[in-house]
Amino acid sequence: MIALQGIRKSFGGHEVLRSVSVDIAAGQVTALIGPSGSGKSTLLRCVNLLEVPDAGNLTLGAETIRFSPGVRPGPDAVRRIRLQTGMVFQNFQLFAHQSAVQNVMEGLVTVKRWDKARARERALALLDKVGLRDKADAWPASLSGGQQQRVAIARALAIEPAVLLCDEPTSALDPGLAAEVVAVLSELAREGMTMLMATHDLRLAAQVAGHTVFLLDGAVVEAGPSRALFESAQDPRTREFVATLA
Ligand code: ADP
Ligand code: MG
Repeated sequence: MIALQGIRKSFGGHEVLRSVSVDIAAGQVTALIGPSGSGKSTLLRCVNLLEVPDAGNLTLGAETIRFSPGVRPGPDAVRRIRLQTGMVFQNFQLFAHQSAVQNVMEGLVTVKRWDKARARERALALLDKVGLRDKADAWPASLSGGQQQRVAIARALAIEPAVLLCDEPTSALDPGLAAEVVAVLSELAREGMTMLMATHDLRLAAQVAGHTVFLLDGAVVEAGPSRALFESAQDPRTREFVATLA
C-alpha cells in the first residue's frame, strides 16, 4: 500500500533522513516513535510531498515516484499523491475564518470540485462520525482542542484518502481531550483505515498501531509489531527510548 524505500532528505548540509525504509500494508496502522528531531515529521511530510526527498522511492497505491537530487515530481504526480493522503497536524491547523463544516468541505470543493450542497452533506456525515454533528456551524476558536482535532480528522478524511498521516495528533491536548482523539483514531483503525502516525503517546501507539517504527537520528533502529517493540525490544536504544514514553 505504502512503501518508502531508501528515503534521504537533507536540509542545508544536515542529513535528516538517512535512507529510511518503511512498508505499510493496506489497513495497517503504523506508529512512528523517536526523540524530537529524529525526523518523524519530515518523513510524514515526504509521504505527501510537502517535502521532496533527495533520494529513494515512494510507492502509494499504483503510483511510484523515484527521487533524485534537485528533481521535483511534476504537478500531476503531486496531485495524484495528495489525493491519496490526508494529514492531521499537532496544532490542528483549522481555517480559523471557516466554520467546522466549512473546514471539512474545503477539500471536496477546491480539490474534488464537488458542488457545495453535496460537499456539505458529506461533511456533515463526517462530523457525525467524529461525534460533532451538533458543532457543524461552530467556529474553531469556540471548540475545545479535542473537538478541533476531531474536525481536523474529519477534514483529512473528506477526500477519502488511501492513507491518513497524523503528526503527533494528541501532543497539544490534555489527557481527557487526547482520549477523545484516541477513541476516534481507534475507531478508524477498526474500520480498516491505513495510517502512519508520529506520536509520543504510548496509549495511542500501543492501542491503535499494530506496528511501530523507532526512528533515531534519521534512521530506523527497529520496527515490528508494537507489542514486541514496547515489551521486548531487541535494541537497547529502543528499550531506553520506550522507557521515556508515558
Ligand atoms: P521530529 O518530528 O522527529 O521532531 P523533524 O522531522 O521535525 O523531527 O526534524 C528533524 C530535523 O530536521 C531537525 O533537526 C530539524 O531541525 C530539521 N528540519 C526539519 N525541517 C526543516 C526545514 N524545513 N529546514 C531545516 N531544517 C529542518
Ligand atoms: Mg515532529
